[in-house]
Amino acid sequence: MTSQRTRERLIQRLMDRGVTNLQVLDVIRNTPRHLFLDEALSHRAYEDSSLPIGHGQTLSQPYIVARMTEILLGAAGGKLQRVLEVGTGSGYQTSILAQLVGEVYSVERIKPLQDKARERFRQLGLRNVHLRHADGGFGWPEPGTKFDGILSTAAPRFVPSELTDQLAPNGVLVIPVGDQQQDLQLIIRDGDSDKLFTQKLEAVKFVPLLSGTSR
Ligand code: SAH
Repeated sequence: MTSQRTRERLIQRLMDRGVTNLQVLDVIRNTPRHLFLDEALSHRAYEDSSLPIGHGQTLSQPYIVARMTEILLGAAGGKLQRVLEVGTGSGYQTSILAQLVGEVYSVERIKPLQDKARERFRQLGLRNVHLRHADGGFGWPEPGTKFDGILSTAAPRFVPSELTDQLAPNGVLVIPVGDQQQDLQLIIRDGDSDKLFTQKLEAVKFVPLLSGTSR
């Protein structure tokens, strides 16, 4: 079930759906998605579907993980040094990012999910992941701290200004936005100005960005 052939089939499916970034495909090929699921579901790990991780949350579908990652990398142009993720969840998207960028900062509001994810990063030997248990709608507030990229895996109804405020010059934000109807948005800061370009990409379905934290 976790054989190389099963994983290869997933990569083929992502390519069929239009994912072209070879670096992203390679990282997905080599990341054991079954480690991010409870054992009862691990036989479905290499299907292209979102799967439950408890607490009413889901592990994102591989296609959407691949798409969001390739959009983030593509829009950024050069190498991303610091990336913020909102919604650590299982830590799968975090692990993909950690293999492609300098440092990943990831915020999760549900403590038990964060604890499990931390254990997985340790198991995988990922040392460039920094975690916070907080409401990621506020980003990672720290004086003078800006991010080259921000990726949200939970959908707010409107884009929080705290997130766009934390974009570095030419920084890129990839975020699902909306309630029943959501679309994936790409927001780019124009140089070091206050100007932001927004582009609506495809229709998506994410869990909502909720406020506050839970233990
Ligand atoms: N990237 C995750 C997706 C998990 S689903 C994965 O691949 O597994 C989205 C996650 O966002 C959930 O874990 C949910 O608890 C979290 N979330 C929702 N609102 C949040 C908020 N305001 N701050 C931080 N995390 C939030």
